[in-house]
Amino acid sequence: MNKSEKYPDFMWATLTWPEIEERLKHVDTAILPCGAIEQHGPHLPLDVDTFDAEYMARKVAEACPEPKPFVLPVIPFGVSYHHSKFKGTISVTNNALSALIYDIGMSLAHNGIKKLVILNGHGDNVPTLTYAAQMINRDARIFVCVETGETSDVDLYDLIDTHNDIHAGEIETSTTLAIRPELVDMRKAVDDTIDLGNEYLDYTSDRGVSWYVHTERLTKSGVMGNATKATAEKGHQMWEIMIRKMAEFVETIKNTPFDQLYQNRY
Ligand SMILES: [Zn+2]
Repeated sequence: MNKSEKYPDFMWATLTWPEIEERLKHVDTAILPCGAIEQHGPHLPLDVDTFDAEYMARKVAEACPEPKPFVLPVIPFGVSYHHSKFKGTISVTNNALSALIYDIGMSLAHNGIKKLVILNGHGDNVPTLTYAAQMINRDARIFVCVETGETSDVDLYDLIDTHNDIHAGEIETSTTLAIRPELVDMRKAVDDTIDLGNEYLDYTSDRGVSWYVHTERLTKSGVMGNATKATAEKGHQMWEIMIRKMAEFVETIKNTPFDQLYQNRY
């Protein structure tokens, strides 16, 4: 087996410096997956967001034609303080995460990356990652964006039965059943669908505002949604859509000249 079969040459960390120097002449786009280690109900593992972000980043790169975007090692820890009543949750502060992402972004810019796609697997990382993205753009003048499912959420909501499927519910249980069924205990899956009774507080409403809550106030199991509705078949459909839409987006960014992305590095 040659090296690139096991370690595709879009994976940043397994290249040598001369290899990446050569590849950077043709590729200016990188994907940085970010996740979380936190409770996902009694039936799913703690690493759903981290595993899925990295899996998705690799699949998206595979789906893109050459030259494929770089995929960086996943950032495993996220802002998960709201799940801290549930054992296993490991949370880093907003300050720590944003500082880390900022430093990585500035270092990528120094290497010659001009377009950075932060692929976020954990909704509660959003304020922190967008803050870091703004600071990277301010200081490095490269294109930076944060994608947390926006490219396909509307399609996924059409596939499911559950209203307000937020956490460890129909979506995340289905996507995990599709790729890691051995880690899902459906005997322990529960329906803890939350009715906030208010379209402005609904997390999946077009009119929903951003607000924050400690999870144990909303759910005893840690699930917010209906995990019992999950199937591997739905999960495969979801992955197909998520990967296809995200790859379309990354291709658009990759193929758009830097100045047409309204940036001005040099
Ligand atoms: Zn999750």
